[in-house]
Amino acid sequence: MTRVEPRIETGILSAYRALLGEESVRELTALAHGLRGRRMVMVNSTATGGGVAEILHRLVPMLTELGVPTSWEVLPAEARFHDITKRLHNALHGHGAPLTDADHEHYFAFTRQAAERLTLDGDIIMIHDPQPAGLAAYRRKPHQTWIWRCHIDLADAQPDALDFIMTRVAHHDAAVYSHATFVPRMTPGFLTPPSIDPFSPKNVELDDDRMHELLAPYGLPGDVPWVTQVSRFDRIKDPLGVIEAFRLARKREDAHLVLAGGSADDDPEGAAVLAEVRERAGGMSDVSVLALPSDAHQVINALQRRSTVIVQKSLREGFALTVSEALWKQRAVVASAVGGIPLQVVHERTGLLVRSVEGCALQLVRALRDRALRRRLGRAGHDHVRMNFLHTRELRDYLALALHLVRQLARAGQAHG
Ligand code: UDP
Repeated sequence: MTRVEPRIETGILSAYRALLGEESVRELTALAHGLRGRRMVMVNSTATGGGVAEILHRLVPMLTELGVPTSWEVLPAEARFHDITKRLHNALHGHGAPLTDADHEHYFAFTRQAAERLTLDGDIIMIHDPQPAGLAAYRRKPHQTWIWRCHIDLADAQPDALDFIMTRVAHHDAAVYSHATFVPRMTPGFLTPPSIDPFSPKNVELDDDRMHELLAPYGLPGDVPWVTQVSRFDRIKDPLGVIEAFRLARKREDAHLVLAGGSADDDPEGAAVLAEVRERAGGMSDVSVLALPSDAHQVINALQRRSTVIVQKSLREGFALTVSEALWKQRAVVASAVGGIPLQVVHERTGLLVRSVEGCALQLVRALRDRALRRRLGRAGHDHVRMNFLHTRELRDYLALALHLVRQLARAGQAHG
């Protein structure tokens, strides 16, 4: 099974209409009209865990509702391929060992086989991230438009890894990045950051009773403020750094740290990182480590809403949907000034940016102490997300790009015909 059926209800567009006004959806409908008769296919490497799956579960049905029938294909799962692509992912983030020739050969062999199994018969194919980037070389048809959508921070990529991936990307018509600093030198790129859905189970409003019901099984203390980081257990999210910063902050302010996360199907390192975190937190009664199942969306929603401060101390970050999720919920956010985070956290306006463990501790103390500051940041953060990081904006950017590329292809066809 490679096709994913998103967990979805219909009628999301009318919810957006009610939230943002008629114009926001009219604009999308007009763009979608220009693509009528065309089908879109999204391709990534996992249906659960991580931000890309989170987004596709909502964008795929929204596109279909707009009149651009869209399907979602996931690469078949294979341990060796996941191991190689995780190392490629790390190298693209600037650390770890480079891939070997044998790794490259396996990447190609696996991709060739996957290309035969996936249903890639749409008009616009959007490939997410490095794992499926090799497909275009094997499956591209002349009438198709292929877009590579990069969600990761390539600013410090190791040259070999970057060269490997950009050679695959060259088989696409366009590359899309979340931030200008991620666009590799001397290559063209379109920019659009990711986004969240206020109507998904992750973000929808919850009343106090429902929050209590969702959180009761975890036995978290009710009498101290919570500082929470929600993230896959990945070193790039620096969970050990969060514990260290919290330990320093805790000397000055009473609080409880919650590290909540699961793993992604395509991430082979999650279990080892979770074990490291558990070991480091062992014996600290003011730290809770919650290993959540991949469908714990409402639990995460409740955790974010119930926390006094949300922290995202990533070392590298494409975007961090978790930050927009927290800002939408009017939380005070303390987050690293890396990758796409500063797009969301404007220092002192929508949240607090940090660059070190000590800086993180300092800002945690400030946020824990100052209710008025939290309220001001939370309100401004919510407005910032509403203006910039909801799915309607990301969809508009994708539709506009697809329309531009499809028209370009049609013009080129006429010129040759
Ligand atoms: N998430 C989740 N369960 C977890 C950890 C994270 O559902 O155990 C969600 C989180 O709420 C967010 C997404 O997965 O919606 C993670 O996206 P982000 O961009 O923050 O990071 P990524 O995992 O893609 O690096």
